[in-house]
Amino acid sequence: MNTGSWENNVRKVVPYVPGEQPKFSNVIKLNTNENPYPPSPSVRKVLDEYNCADMRLYPDPDASVLVNAIAERYGVKSSQVFVGVGSDDVLSVAFLTFFNSDKPVLFPDITYSFYDVWADVYRIPYIQKPLDSDFRINPDDYKCENGGIIFPNPNAPTGCEESLEMIEDIVKSNPGSVVIIDEAYVDFGAESALSLTEKYENLLVVQTFSKSRSMAGMRIGYAIGNEKLIKYMNDVKFSINSYTMTPLTILCGAAGIKDEEYFVRTVNKITETREYSKKRLAELGFTFPDSKSNFIFASHKSVPASEIFTALKERKIYVRYWNKEKINNHLRISVGTREEMDELFGALEGILK
Ligand code: PMP
Repeated sequence: MNTGSWENNVRKVVPYVPGEQPKFSNVIKLNTNENPYPPSPSVRKVLDEYNCADMRLYPDPDASVLVNAIAERYGVKSSQVFVGVGSDDVLSVAFLTFFNSDKPVLFPDITYSFYDVWADVYRIPYIQKPLDSDFRINPDDYKCENGGIIFPNPNAPTGCEESLEMIEDIVKSNPGSVVIIDEAYVDFGAESALSLTEKYENLLVVQTFSKSRSMAGMRIGYAIGNEKLIKYMNDVKFSINSYTMTPLTILCGAAGIKDEEYFVRTVNKITETREYSKKRLAELGFTFPDSKSNFIFASHKSVPASEIFTALKERKIYVRYWNKEKINNHLRISVGTREEMDELFGALEGILK
């Protein structure tokens, strides 16, 4: 007989809190780094032509059409590509697969706030290495005993890019653990570590369709790395759920990634608007690290971030704010369309007066 409370045996966790998705329209939504433009018209075409009767069938568990399209885009073998339900799913499988030792996993103290949640839910020990006062990573922090390393490049929510040399230095110094570079924002002007996956077996690069490919709602993420890494991830995936990608998702993703011209055009529009936004924010008295992503992490010289956040929300402009040590005077502002950004700057002029 077991007389204790069943609640003693529950896996208790503090969940990740995503940015708010307001339930009403007329909002300028600059709080979750979504792309302000629709996906490629070739995705629309897939939806128009989709035969609903196909929903009777289970999807291809290997998502081959999507995997092959991604492999072709990056010039790698299909056996080097893992796909999942957004990069959150891919990262979660990667944590479960590769961070499997008693030694702590290392990641920055200011970074994507899902990492500590996955570590906690999977009971993985971890240490958060402090960024320096300019929000930069010190590579020497990642040269101690560890059970794995992960950080985004560019980092979130700071937008800072670390150099490929620094990344290679960290990967090379850690042959005993897997190093994951989370490149959710890499397409907005940073250099990808993909080329290094040829040279280093222990490097996994994770990217997503949610930002540069305008498909956050379709939930497509992928990892590229050495064939052995991908095989280990698939073994874990197929031990949990074989059918993670819906047939429609597979088709839309494959169509989307083939439209390179549209991708380049929309990414360029966003980076141009980002550079314009940096100028406008500086004129308004904000400072920020140089962003290579589709967001700017800004702090005002005299008005507290929490006040600006609330005042913007009252005007139906949503940005992201964390009441967390070291970053509680910063706002993370996603780059929207030029028109949306001009509305933001108009509102800020009023608020800061
Ligand atoms: N990594 C980073 C650094 C992110 O900011 C996000 C977006 N929240 C993700 C991964 C996950 O994005 P998705 O699951 O939409 O691919």
